[in-house]
Amino acid sequence: MTGKFKIATTSLAGCFGCHMSLLDIDERILEVADVFEFDRSPLTDFEHCGSCDVGLIEGGVCNSENVHVLREFRKHCKILVSVGACAINGGLPSLRNFIPLEDCLKEVYLDGIGVENPQIPSDPELPLLLEQVRPIHEVVKVDYFLPGCPPSADVFWKFLSDVTAGREPALPYELVHYD
Ligand code: SF4
Repeated sequence: MTGKFKIATTSLAGCFGCHMSLLDIDERILEVADVFEFDRSPLTDFEHCGSCDVGLIEGGVCNSENVHVLREFRKHCKILVSVGACAINGGLPSLRNFIPLEDCLKEVYLDGIGVENPQIPSDPELPLLLEQVRPIHEVVKVDYFLPGCPPSADVFWKFLSDVTAGREPALPYELVHYD
């Protein structure tokens, strides 16, 4: 036991841009490393999420594996945070919600320009796509939302600083944006 806050992060139907913005805190990441210990994250090699203080979720929910991972994070993280537009409202990937899933698959795998050997992938190891991309709060309870596409590095910094100081996390108006 190191006494550090444990933090886990994941990207569901995200683009990793929110993770890049987290890393954009630049040299302040050293201060984060002093206070936080990373559990499951694209930045580490852990396959499963252990007991954590904070879970940061990037991306909405677009397939069965996303649902599974999200539930694992909710089960193990005291504070679960919806990070970025995709997690908060489905984001740009949810534009596919206006087109039937079957039509999307046909366009990409059967009728798309340059497609050879057309077939829709059906290997049982592949996660099943959901009919629609959904925000994460429709699947699990969310404690905080960090808006932006992506949220700025200063948003991550303010949020994590509040958590480590034992303050109720709050974002000043000038840090809040949705683009
Ligand atoms: S919110 Fe924006 S930056 Fe974050 S995962 Fe979605 S598209 Fe990428």
